[in-house]
Amino acid sequence: MLIKHSVNCFTKMVTIVGGGPVGCYTAELLAKKGKAVTVLEEYDCIGKPVQCTGIVTKSLFDVVRPHRSFMVNRLKRVRIHAPDGSDAEVKVDDAVICRTSFDRHLAGRAEKAGAKIQLNSRLESIAQKGDKTRLKVRVKGKQGKNLTTQTLIGADGPNSIVSRYIGNKRPNFWVGAQARVKMPVDKNTYEVYFGDRFPGFFGWVVPENDEVARVGVAAEKNPNKAFRHLMQKIGRCKVLERQGGMIPRYDPFVKLQQDSTYIIGDAATQVKATTGGGLVPGLKAAQGLSRAVVDDTNYRSEIRKVNRELQTSLLLRKVLDRFNDPDYNRLVNMIRSKELQGILNKEDRDNPTKILFKTLLNKPEIALFARVLFRAKCL
Ligand SMILES: Cc1cc2nc3c(=O)[nH]c(=O)nc-3n(C[C@H](O)[C@H](O)[C@H](O)COP(=O)(O)OP(=O)(O)OC[C@H]3O[C@@H](n4cnc5c(N)ncnc54)[C@H](O)[C@@H]3O)c2cc1C
Repeated sequence: MLIKHSVNCFTKMVTIVGGGPVGCYTAELLAKKGKAVTVLEEYDCIGKPVQCTGIVTKSLFDVVRPHRSFMVNRLKRVRIHAPDGSDAEVKVDDAVICRTSFDRHLAGRAEKAGAKIQLNSRLESIAQKGDKTRLKVRVKGKQGKNLTTQTLIGADGPNSIVSRYIGNKRPNFWVGAQARVKMPVDKNTYEVYFGDRFPGFFGWVVPENDEVARVGVAAEKNPNKAFRHLMQKIGRCKVLERQGGMIPRYDPFVKLQQDSTYIIGDAATQVKATTGGGLVPGLKAAQGLSRAVVDDTNYRSEIRKVNRELQTSLLLRKVLDRFNDPDYNRLVNMIRSKELQGILNKEDRDNPTKILFKTLLNKPEIALFARVLFRAKCL
């Protein structure tokens, strides 16, 4: 779809690098506010390759309404597996989405709002131009055409060139390995596996329907060993497709802005460190960033709420980083308790601060796990 911008010589150009969900949603919001927006995407289509499990809490639908084009499944329960073979179930109201269709849905909305999406266009380098209010963006690819822009937004994923341009180092990250497999599965329940066999993260089995599931693990280094272990656990299945990708670890000190250059989404490490979920925080941050660009307000202040939840997730991750198998066995046992079931069955994972607070009030023993934070130092 081609829609002409109504640009006059006073309209400030916004260039967004990355046609992922966060880049496209930011483009839509800014185009709706009258900005002339161009999105540069290095691939020749939106939504491929898939590097995501596509599991989302219902908070996603406060931002993007559910649409039949991308909805795959609704999940009612999560079964949490401890290393000793015990498990606990928690009620959820989650959804599984198709990332290709979701990204294309958001790209379509951005175009409808007036943004231009330029495929086959990889950002190669950035240089300041003349009076410092403009940046020259060197673009490579079939449609590559160098641009001059007033505002530059890096939504270019975990390997962001824009983030490095404003002075950030490459973030720490997990490597995810995933496969879509054919196997009989309960379509209402997804499974997560913790313990030393899944070091630094966890394993998951997320059903698309009764016969296809997304099975994966993430790890700080080589995820293949943990992936093989998970495949052994689930038994016979037929691999339909392999996927994988990087999950950046949230860094609260990442530099988000330099003059009129911003970063967002995975490029800004806006991913929950507990679950690796980046869609809800990235899209919520897009709302804050669009306000900051349009009203010239402070970006970090605009996304204070998102950052608070990301920080709580990071704190929980730091505790989990020190867990050993007996800790996980005890945690799963605690999750089975009435008090915790009551809280976990009600609260959305996108509000970890609320969950933590309520848990400490109702089950103070959980604070015992805080000692795990200090274990490494004590030994
Ligand atoms: C294995 C795995 C499972 C995951 N599961 C979930 C999940 O279940 N739920 C969830 O919420 N999150 C999940 N995530 C995280 C989620 O996928 C990301 O947080 C989300 O995709 C971030 O969106 P984004 O738009 O910021 O970045 P991306 O989706 O990475 O998009 C970046 C875009 O920028 C383009 N690009 C990059 N560099 C350039 C360049 N130089 N020039 C032009 N274009 C460029 C890329 O091609 C890409 O299209 C998972 C991640 C992985 C790896």
